[in-house]
Amino acid sequence: MGDVTAGLEGLAERLRGIAGAENVITDPAELRTYECDGLTYHRATPGVVVLPDGAEQIAGIVRACTADGVPYIARGSGTGLSGGALPRTDGVLIVTSRMRRILEIDIDDERAVVEPGVINLDVSKAVRPYGYYYAPDPSSQQICSIGGNVAENSGGAHCLKYGFTVNHVLACEVVTPGGEIVEISEAPGYDLLGVFVGSEGTLGIATKITVRLTRLPEAVETLLAAFDSIESAGEAVSAIIGAGVVPAAIEMMDALAIEAAEAAVRCRYPEGAGAVLIVELDGPDAEVRRQFAQVEDLCRDAFEIRVAADDAERALIWRGRKSAFAAVGRISPDYIVQDGVIPRTALPEVLARIDELSGDSGVRVANVFHAGDGNLHPLVLFDDAVEGAGERAELVSAQILDLCIEHGGSITGEHGVGVDKAKHMPRMFTEEDLDTMQMVRCAFDPAGLCNPGKIYPTPRLCGEVPGRRTKVHPLVESGKADLF
Ligand SMILES: Cc1cc2nc3c(=O)[nH]c(=O)nc-3n(C[C@H](O)[C@H](O)[C@H](O)COP(=O)(O)OP(=O)(O)OC[C@H]3O[C@@H](n4cnc5c(N)ncnc54)[C@H](O)[C@@H]3O)c2cc1C
Repeated sequence: MGDVTAGLEGLAERLRGIAGAENVITDPAELRTYECDGLTYHRATPGVVVLPDGAEQIAGIVRACTADGVPYIARGSGTGLSGGALPRTDGVLIVTSRMRRILEIDIDDERAVVEPGVINLDVSKAVRPYGYYYAPDPSSQQICSIGGNVAENSGGAHCLKYGFTVNHVLACEVVTPGGEIVEISEAPGYDLLGVFVGSEGTLGIATKITVRLTRLPEAVETLLAAFDSIESAGEAVSAIIGAGVVPAAIEMMDALAIEAAEAAVRCRYPEGAGAVLIVELDGPDAEVRRQFAQVEDLCRDAFEIRVAADDAERALIWRGRKSAFAAVGRISPDYIVQDGVIPRTALPEVLARIDELSGDSGVRVANVFHAGDGNLHPLVLFDDAVEGAGERAELVSAQILDLCIEHGGSITGEHGVGVDKAKHMPRMFTEEDLDTMQMVRCAFDPAGLCNPGKIYPTPRLCGEVPGRRTKVHPLVESGKADLF
C-alpha cells in the first residue's frame, strides 16, 4: 500500500474492495511505473492505479470514480505515441494487463474473442496452427494490446492492403462511462462500432473484443530495392500503385533512418542508398508471381534489388524497418516520432520540403514511413542537453504537420491525437467541427470523466472546464443540439 494522493483515499479503499487490495497501487514509487506511455516527454504520476480482472470489476471502478467525480483513464501496454494513456494525478488509471485471455477461437466463422489486454501478436500465434492470423500489425505488435489498438485504430505495415484495426473488429463489449456493460457490434443502425474504434479511450473501456481472422496467404514475396535518392524511390511507389498493384506493404526509409537501423541491428541494407523500399506481395501463388515480376520491373531505377529467398531472409529485410524507431536512439539522444499523412502523389514534394526545413533549422530528420498510404513518420532528432534544442525540434515537427495539412493530409495517420496533438486540432478543424465532435463525446460521457484532456484543445462542453469559447455553438443556438 502506501500514501494515497490527497482526496483519493476513500476511493482507493473502495477500489480495493472491487479489484482486491493487491491489485490497487498507491505507493508513490510504484505509481511512477505508469507515469507515461511511449511518448515519454509527457509525464504525470497517477493518483491510483488499479488492475482489474474483468468487465464487472471495470464497471464497478467506473461507477466508483463517477460517484466521486474522479477522472479515469484506460491503459493497455502503454506503447501509445500520442500520450493517450497519460494519467492524471487526480485520477485513476485502469490497466488491463491482467486481462490477457483469448476467450474463443472460432475458425469456421473466422473470428476470435479476446480480452483487451491480449497482446496483438499473441492472437496471430494462437490461430496460426489453423492457417490464420490477425492482420493489423503495428510495429509494436510484440507488446501492444488489442484494447489499445482498438482505441487508436492502429495501423501497421500491412494495413495498406488489409485495412486498419477498424476493418478487423466485429464487436466490442464496452463499459460505458455510465458504468453499464454493453455490446456494440456491426448491427443495423448508426455505426457505433465505427465511432468507438479510434475514440482514444474517451467513450468507454473495451472489455472484450471480437476480431476478424484472416487466412494466411498461399504465397509471400518480399524485395528490398535500394535507390540513389528518396525522389526515385517515391516515383517507384507511385508507379507500383499506378499500375494497379496493391502490395501487402510498401515501406520506405531514407539514408539517416538506414544509418540508424544499421547501427542498431546490422540489417546490411545496400551501402550508399539514399532510400530503400521494402515491397511485400502476398496472396495466391500465381498472382503473387505475376505481380512480383511487375514490381521488380517498376523498381528498375534501383541500383540494387534483393529478393528474400526464404522466411529468414524476409525477417532480415524487415528487421531494419521494424527496429527503426528504437534504432534512432543510436544516432541521437532524443527524438520526436511524428505521424502525419499526405496524398501519395505529394510524397516527393513534401519530402523535399522536410529536407529544406531540416537544412534551414539544423535539426536532423530521419524518414521512415508507410509509403503506400502516404503515412509519414519523420523522426525529428535533438539533444535535450543542448539548450533550446527541444523547442527547435518541436517547431520543425509542427512545421511538418503544417505541410501535411497544406497538402490535404492529416495530423495523424495511426498514432492518434492524444494529449500531444490536441493543440494541432484547430489547424485542421474549425471550432464548429470540434464542438460537433465534442457533442458526440458528451453523448457517451456527459460527466466528462473518461480520459479527459485528450484529443480536444479547449474542452468546454459536458462538465469540462470552459475554454476559449465565446459564443454558443450554432447547433445549440438553433435548437438542433443540447449541451449535455
Ligand atoms: C516502437 C513502436 C512502434 C509502433 N508502431 C506502430 C505502428 O506501426 N502502427 C501504429 O498504429 N501504432 C504504432 N505504435 C503506437 C502504439 O503501439 C499503438 O498506438 C498501440 O495501439 C497502443 O497500444 P497499447 O496497448 O500500448 O495502448 P496504450 O498506450 O496503453 O493506450 C493507448 C490508448 O488506448 C486507450 N486504451 C487502452 N486500452 C483501452 C481499452 N481497453 N478500452 C478503451 N481504451 C483503451 C488508452 O486510454 C489510450 O488512449 C508504435 C509504438 C511504438 C512504441
